[in-house]
Amino acid sequence: MADRVRVRFAPSPTGDLHVGGARTALFNWLFARQQGGDVILRIEDTDQARLVGQSIAGIIESLRWLGLHWDEGPDVGGPYGPYVQSQRLPLYRDHAQRLVLAGQAYYCFCTPERLERLRQEQRARGEAPGYDRHCRHLPPTEVEERLARGEPAVIRFKMPLEGVTTVVDLLRGAITYENRLLPDLVLLKSDGFPTYHLANVVDDHAMQISHILRAEEWIPSAPLHAQLYRAFGWKMPVLCHLPLILSPDGKGKLSKRHGATGVLEFKRQGYLPEAMLNYLALLGWAYDAEREIFSIEELLEKFRLEEVNPHPARFNFEKLLWMNQYYINHVLSLDELARRCVPLLQQAGLLSLEASDPASPAFAYARQVIALVKDRLKLLTEVVELTRFFFTEVEDYDPELLLSPKVGPAVVLHALERAIETLRAADFDDEADLERRLRGLAEELGLKAGQLFMPIRVAVTGRTVSPGLFETLRVLGRERSLERLAAAQEKLAAYQARSAHAC
Ligand code: GLU
Repeated sequence: MADRVRVRFAPSPTGDLHVGGARTALFNWLFARQQGGDVILRIEDTDQARLVGQSIAGIIESLRWLGLHWDEGPDVGGPYGPYVQSQRLPLYRDHAQRLVLAGQAYYCFCTPERLERLRQEQRARGEAPGYDRHCRHLPPTEVEERLARGEPAVIRFKMPLEGVTTVVDLLRGAITYENRLLPDLVLLKSDGFPTYHLANVVDDHAMQISHILRAEEWIPSAPLHAQLYRAFGWKMPVLCHLPLILSPDGKGKLSKRHGATGVLEFKRQGYLPEAMLNYLALLGWAYDAEREIFSIEELLEKFRLEEVNPHPARFNFEKLLWMNQYYINHVLSLDELARRCVPLLQQAGLLSLEASDPASPAFAYARQVIALVKDRLKLLTEVVELTRFFFTEVEDYDPELLLSPKVGPAVVLHALERAIETLRAADFDDEADLERRLRGLAEELGLKAGQLFMPIRVAVTGRTVSPGLFETLRVLGRERSLERLAAAQEKLAAYQARSAHAC
C-alpha cells in the first residue's frame, strides 16, 4: 500500500466547479491513471461560512460530465471514508488534542476583538498583520481554569521559532521558509470545526495520499503543512503545485469578469467535454510546439506531470471555442453529434421525444439536418437557431428579402411560379438533379443563377443565409419546399398589391 499512487481532488463546496479546479482534477486523474493508482474525491466543507448549497451536487455533475471518474468518494464510498470532512469532525478534534498533549499546540483564548485590535496596531506600525503568540505561554493551570469555565478557545499550532522549513515541489524544487515568519496557525476553531490546514493534513495521511497535486495558491500552506507532518511524525506526500490560470490578458486571475468560469456554464453554452478536457490539459502542459489536439486516451499516453510548466497559463476563450468547433467538425461522428444535438432540439420544442431513439425516423431526419450545419457549429447550442426552419414553419420574413436591385416583384413572382413547376418534376433525392433543373431555369428566364436562387432560398428557409440551397431542398423534401414557395408567392403578391396601392 505504501508505494501505491493515491491522489485526491479535494474541492471546497463554495460554488460551481471552476475551470481551474477542473484542470487540477484532470491532472490528478491523468497522473493516477497512468500510474495505475487511485483517485479519491474528498469534499472539504469545514469552512461553514463559505458553503454554498447544492455545490457538492454541481461539482459531482461537473466531474462526471468531464468523465473524470473516481475510485473513492462521497457517493461511491471506499475504505477510508467518510469522504466529506464535516462527517469526520471527531478525528480532527482528537488530532488537535493529541498535539496539545505533546506540547506542540496550545489553547488560545484571544477574542476576535483583541485580534482585530492587534491587526490595526500592526498596520499602524507598518508591520505585517499576524498573531502575536499571546496565549502560547499561558500557565497550564490558567488554561485548565479557563477551559473549565467554558471560555471559547481555539487550538493553535506551536510553530518552531527558529530554523527553516524546506518543502520540495515537484515542478519548482526546494522552497525554504524561515520558521519565525510562519504563523501559529489555528488548527481547531472554537466551534469545534478544524481549519483547512488540520483537516487537509489529517485526511491526506489517513487516506494514504501519496501525491498532492493542487493549485499554486496553496504553496504558502506547504511549509505549515510540513510542520504539521513533522509534529505528527508522518511522512509528507509528494507535493506538486499546478500553475495559476490567468485571464486572457494575463493581468490577473481568471474570474467571472472575463466570461464563463464554471464547468457547468461551459456545458450549458454548448461546449463538448472532450474539447474542454483537451483545452484544460494545455493549461500548463504541452506535448510539443505544434500539436494541440489530444483525445483523453492520447493524453493518458503522452501527459507527463514533470513536464508541467510552473509559470502561469492564460485562459484563451477563443482557443477553446476553436477547439470545440474542431471537435464538432472533425472528431465526433455524425451519429454522435446528432445524439448530442437532439436533446437541445427537444428542449427548444423542435423535436419530439421519439427522436431520442436513434432508430426513429425523427432521429434520421435530425441527423440529415445536422449534417448540413455541422461545418458552421461552434457550440452545440447553436444548432437550434441554425436549423429551426427544418423543423417548424419558416419565421415571418420581410417580402423585400425576395427581391434584389435588378429583380422586382413581377419577375420574382414569375420566377417562383416557374420554380414550382420545375421542382414538381424534380427528383428530390438527387441534389444534382435539383441543381441542373434550377440552373436551366435561370438560363431560360435570362436571370443570373443567384437572382433565381436567392428568392428560392428565402422562400424555403425564411433567411438569406442558410446551408447550400440544393441540399436544403433535398432534406426539406418536395412537399414542404413547394408549400413554402407557394407561401412566398402569396406574400409577394400581397406586397406588390400594397405597393401599387401606396403609389
Ligand atoms: N479544499 C482546497 C480547495 O478548495 C483543497 C486544497 C488542496 O488540495 O490541498 O482548493
